[in-house]
Amino acid sequence: MDIFFEPKLFRDHHHPDSLAAACRKVYPRECCGILTGHNRNGSLYVEGFQCMRNRAADPESAFAFDPAEWVETVYRYAQTATGLSLVGLFHSHPNSSAIPSAADMDSLWDTALHLIISLQNNNTPELRCYLPRGGRSWEEQAIRYRSG
Ligand SMILES: [Zn+2]
Repeated sequence: MDIFFEPKLFRDHHHPDSLAAACRKVYPRECCGILTGHNRNGSLYVEGFQCMRNRAADPESAFAFDPAEWVETVYRYAQTATGLSLVGLFHSHPNSSAIPSAADMDSLWDTALHLIISLQNNNTPELRCYLPRGGRSWEEQAIRYRSG
């Protein structure tokens, strides 16, 4: 499956509305949330993101969604009134690389897309995108940017 990201949100790490900017805002805590977009002709277009509260007991090294906020979010995008669907999740690694941790592999269910953003090198954040397949097998996907 080809996956295309909205350039200004995911490629320009200095854009004020970018995912990197959102992750920097809560540093050194992990930032977490959802990716929104749509499927078209067998390709997935990631058009936006929305941060969610991190309710982990140790937010500097873990993330956990707030259950009520999660349910509300799922219902909001299921209504498709916005024309956007929930297509994936993301979280940040404030001080480590954008590789899924053992805890990520143990705790994340088989979601659609999962994006990890590393702020280890704050000036050049690293984005990696995965399709979790369960059983500690995460397939890394190429990140492409929508043109035009
Ligand atoms: Zn992680």
